[in-house]
Amino acid sequence: MSETLPRAAPVHIPFVAPRALRRAELSIDLDALRHNADRAKSAASGRKIFVAVKADGYGHGAATVAQTLRGQVDGWMVASLAEGEALRQAGMTERILVLQGIMDASEARRAAQRFLEPVFHHASQLDALGRGLAGLPLTAWMKLDTGMHRVGFTPDEFPTAYARLSQLRGIRPSPGVLTHFARADESDPAPTQQQIVCFKQVAGDLNAEKSLCNSAGLLRFPQAGGDWVRPGIMIYGGNPMTEGTAEAWGLKPVMTLRTRLIAIRQVAAGEGVGYGARFIAPEAMPVGVVAIGYGDGYPRHAPDGTPILIQGQRARVIGRVSMDLMTVDLRGIRASVGDEVVCWGEGLPVDEIAQQSASISYELMCQMSGRVARRIVGALNA
Ligand SMILES: *Cc1c(COP(=O)(O)O)cnc(C)c1O
Repeated sequence: MSETLPRAAPVHIPFVAPRALRRAELSIDLDALRHNADRAKSAASGRKIFVAVKADGYGHGAATVAQTLRGQVDGWMVASLAEGEALRQAGMTERILVLQGIMDASEARRAAQRFLEPVFHHASQLDALGRGLAGLPLTAWMKLDTGMHRVGFTPDEFPTAYARLSQLRGIRPSPGVLTHFARADESDPAPTQQQIVCFKQVAGDLNAEKSLCNSAGLLRFPQAGGDWVRPGIMIYGGNPMTEGTAEAWGLKPVMTLRTRLIAIRQVAAGEGVGYGARFIAPEAMPVGVVAIGYGDGYPRHAPDGTPILIQGQRARVIGRVSMDLMTVDLRGIRASVGDEVVCWGEGLPVDEIAQQSASISYELMCQMSGRVARRIVGALNA
């Protein structure tokens, strides 16, 4: 049997870009991050907070996020053991919840050695654990499926599985219990209310730590209760709901994606712009060329009309997004070569671009490529 070596999650080394921005650059605003964490903290009203920093902190840099929010929140939530180990390596000493848990006994030992708290969501994980802990203490959680039907023990399976986990040597104290909402971001509260009722019926009487809420649940279902909440997207300033705006929830964008206008040209009426000539100029018109593309993580499916800011003016993307470049309609826009372009972030919510591209803010944030320079703005912690 071969043991997979832990692969460190990518840690973004803050790249200090040259003062004059030349290509795509991502700035991460630490003040906005702290502001959003404050919003989560007041919504949590006394409950503890695991901030979701999986997928490298939703593309913001897990270590940067954790270093910034240390002391303000209570712990971190990651998807995999390797992500948890990377946070320990970065010096984080807070509690860390590992959503996908462990696959075998050696992973259970790795979790115990690093004080990571795996979630048990499937019987195979209990089988794999066997006597593998060899006495090492492990703080564990168990996932109850209250309606999402992705991972977790069903209400029928749960009591037996929970008793089994609790009795394993090394597991202490009583395993925590968590569930995840499938539809807390939608306007109809009924499906989430049902999940909350189910959770209380199955786990309500257990003397253990409990956790129900993601960002949308935290903001919209204060009655869900629990000891811990697990916000992700709201911390990064994305809109946690399917409707409305992040701003209306008092959230500020943390990530701003900027680049430059590198060319302006005149295109004749009837001429196509870019691959496949998706956009045909309806009249003679100025077209701007912007130094960003899907190779940087900008969504290739952005349709004609997707908003973009040129020196603060709202313009429209036209023509197909290519790997390194895209084109914009400059009719009615005052622009010169070298102007700053904001693709999303300050002044242009990422949710607008996501909606246009049949995506969600989470995906756009996560898919930024390594080619994009990173700049940290706002006060660093002492
Ligand atoms: C990612 C995740 C969260 C955070 O969700 P947001 O919608 O980003 O707030 C919470 N709980 C679980 C189980 C998750 O996987």
